[in-house]
Amino acid sequence: MLPYQTLEEAQISVGRNLTFGETLWFKYSAQKSDYLLYCHNTLFFFIFYTLVPLPWVMIQRLRSHKFDRFKIQPRATHSLSEMIHCYTKVLLTFVYSVCPLQILSYPIIKWIGIRTSLALPSWGEMLSQVLVYFLVEDYANYWLHRMLHCKWGYDKIHRVHHQYLAPMVFAAPYAHWAEVLILGFASFLGPLMVPCHMITFWLWFILRQIEAIETHSGYEFPWSPSKYIPFYGGAIYHDYHHFVGESCNSNFASVFTYCDTIYGTNKGYQYQKRIFEKREKGRRRSS
Ligand SMILES: [Zn+2]
Ligand SMILES: [Zn+2]
Repeated sequence: MLPYQTLEEAQISVGRNLTFGETLWFKYSAQKSDYLLYCHNTLFFFIFYTLVPLPWVMIQRLRSHKFDRFKIQPRATHSLSEMIHCYTKVLLTFVYSVCPLQILSYPIIKWIGIRTSLALPSWGEMLSQVLVYFLVEDYANYWLHRMLHCKWGYDKIHRVHHQYLAPMVFAAPYAHWAEVLILGFASFLGPLMVPCHMITFWLWFILRQIEAIETHSGYEFPWSPSKYIPFYGGAIYHDYHHFVGESCNSNFASVFTYCDTIYGTNKGYQYQKRIFEKREKGRRRSS
C-alpha cells in the first residue's frame, strides 16, 4: 500500500509531477497491500501460461507446410488431449508447490527490499536489472540443472521434465514439484542480489516465462525476435537436450549458450548441428 492518499501527496513525495505511468500505478496500487501486489506474480503465471502458448497450439493444429517446415522434430506430434493433460498437470503442481511458496516467501521479498513506492524506475534501470537477472539465473540454472542429471537427481526428480523427448509449448514448467522449487530458486537469485521495483519483478518473471515457453515450443522460426539476442540458445538448443534425454551431457543452460561453451558441455550438440547442417545443404542442393 502506498504511503500517500492523494495524487498531490504523491507528487510532493516524488518532488515533481507524476508521469502518465506513475499516475496509473498510483491509481492501481494506492489502496492495495504490498502482499496483494506481490501475489499478482502468481496470477500472471496462470494468465501467461494459458495465453502465450496459444499461437503455437494453433500452428500445430493447422498442420500447414508453411509452419511445419520449421518444426525441430518433424515427426513428433502432440494431440490436443496430450496438451490439455500437460497443462492441467502443470497447474496442479503450481497449486500445491508454488502457491504455498508464494505465501511463505513474502517476508523475504519485503526483507530484500522489493518496493512498490513511487517514483517508478526508468526503462533503462528496469532493462539493465532484468538483464542482470537473466545472466544470474542462467548461471545458477546451468549448475542446478547439471546436478539434476546425476543418477539420483535424474531418477527421483528430473525424469519428469524429460518425459517429453520432443518438447511442446505447455511442457516448459512440466516438472517434478521439487524441480519447480529448485529452479525457481535460481529465478529469485537476481532480485535477491539486485533488489528492484515490483513492476520490474513482475516483468522479469513474465519475460522468463515467455522465454521458457518459446524454448519448449518445438519450432525454430527464423523471424523470432529472440534470434537477435547475442548468445541466445533458443528452441533448437534446448530441444536437443530433450531429444537425447537421460544420457544427455550437453546444453544444460536455460537461456544462453555461454556456460555450455565455457564448461565444454556443448560438444554433443555441436557435433549433431554439423551433421544436420550438412544434410540440409545436401537436401537444398538436390531440390
Ligand atoms: Zn535436463
Ligand atoms: Zn526443458
